[in-house]
Amino acid sequence: MSVTEPSVLVVEDEPAQREVLSYNLTAQGFRVRQAENGEEALVMVAEEAPDIIVLDWMLPSVSGIEVCRRLKSRAETKGLPIIMLSARSEETDLVRGLETGADDYMVKPYSVTELIARVRSQLRRARPSSQGEALTYGDITLDPSTHRVNRAGQPVKLGPTEFRLLATLLEKPGRVWSREQLLDRVWGRDIYVDTRTVDVHVGRLRKALSVTGGDDPLRTVRGAGYALG
Ligand code: CA
Repeated sequence: MSVTEPSVLVVEDEPAQREVLSYNLTAQGFRVRQAENGEEALVMVAEEAPDIIVLDWMLPSVSGIEVCRRLKSRAETKGLPIIMLSARSEETDLVRGLETGADDYMVKPYSVTELIARVRSQLRRARPSSQGEALTYGDITLDPSTHRVNRAGQPVKLGPTEFRLLATLLEKPGRVWSREQLLDRVWGRDIYVDTRTVDVHVGRLRKALSVTGGDDPLRTVRGAGYALG
């Protein structure tokens, strides 16, 4: 059971392959978006960054390798895991793909089961809580599989929104999240929520975490947002 469904962007120009992959990822609990060419993929990532991209090498107009190169050269998207897909004849070129920063690759025809296993493996590294791994920071521990939070060994009671908020912050201690980024991650893009709602829930999370005593682990960064630690 994931804290927030991990989102995957599938970039593939072959409609049948795109559909099969999207269908299987959706069945495995992923939130899937699809792009049929490189240009569309770049626009979609700019609109809402997914947690991981499955990227075909051969695409019309902007190639997969170019998409990868551009995303890996920008600070905001550098950490976004990318798995490249290529036809066997292009395999030797894949070295170039990995040089541009792709995190993994598979050669067509690939096994969908194997691809999903690799997607999960990348996510365990990039977004551990989405794969059920416990997260800790200092004396705080969050276990996504049991939905329990402890601080200094004491249970901390959190509402579902505060739980997702804490999970998000725990994934990247020290990272400053803007209110908009937290809205995207915790509430999702499809729901209209005022950015001040984020402040309300951060306040509740602070209060809940202070019940056991200890320092306030949440930092308000003026004009920027919030960070853990
Ligand atoms: Ca293709």
